[in-house]
Amino acid sequence: MFFHEKTYDIDELVKFNMHIHTTFSGCAKPEMLIPDIVKTAEEAGLTMIAMTDHDGIQKKNMVAENRKNILAQLGDSKVKVLVGAELSCNGIGKFVNDEWCDLEMDYKLYTMNHFHVSFWDQPEDLSPRGYAVQMLKMAESVIELRKADCFAHPFMPGYVKTIPDRDLITEAYTDNELGDIMEKATKSEIAWELNTSAILRYPDFYHRYFQIGKEVGAIFNVGTDAHSLDKVNSKQFADELKKILY
Ligand SMILES: [Zn+2]
Ligand SMILES: [Zn+2]
Repeated sequence: MFFHEKTYDIDELVKFNMHIHTTFSGCAKPEMLIPDIVKTAEEAGLTMIAMTDHDGIQKKNMVAENRKNILAQLGDSKVKVLVGAELSCNGIGKFVNDEWCDLEMDYKLYTMNHFHVSFWDQPEDLSPRGYAVQMLKMAESVIELRKADCFAHPFMPGYVKTIPDRDLITEAYTDNELGDIMEKATKSEIAWELNTSAILRYPDFYHRYFQIGKEVGAIFNVGTDAHSLDKVNSKQFADELKKILY
């Protein structure tokens, strides 16, 4: 279980980038080679990064294979490198991987909102509130059933293609609901991602999320969801994050 000292100081949090895709994720650019990612992070002065490639429903052993391959390519470096994965909670209490990955991986970044993917359950109620409730229940099932380290782009509505006005989804959560689920995760030592792209795209919601999280004592980890080398340096987003979140 990865756990850092709790802080709400963005300048501290951006020293980590806990969400990076390598060429082992089909969606990452070919430049996302392990040595080049590490070198970029070192040059930026980051102190810790996490490799978080996607899992795959077709290839159950993909996560373990990726881990082995990444470890084989890691040399000595100044930056601490965690080899984890972005793991799918693709329905309430439904997961692509067995629990072994919770034991094997350095960093378990669980996602509940890849609704654009064919193996993802859609809620029965397809309204904005239906999606919000679904994501809350999915998060709850991760907390109850898995040893997650963090939630990837939590509550981010961008992958719900059937509702054009995505703000209706983020507005469908009450402050109490967000506070309750964030507090519950914190008791299980699960962090909440400050996903830079999600924050820049939905600033009002993530301001609320950060403020509520602070109130309930949530743990936050920064992740840029880097698919290209220019997104590895999380420090470049510090000023924008401060403007939105503080
Ligand atoms: Zn994702
Ligand atoms: Zn990702």
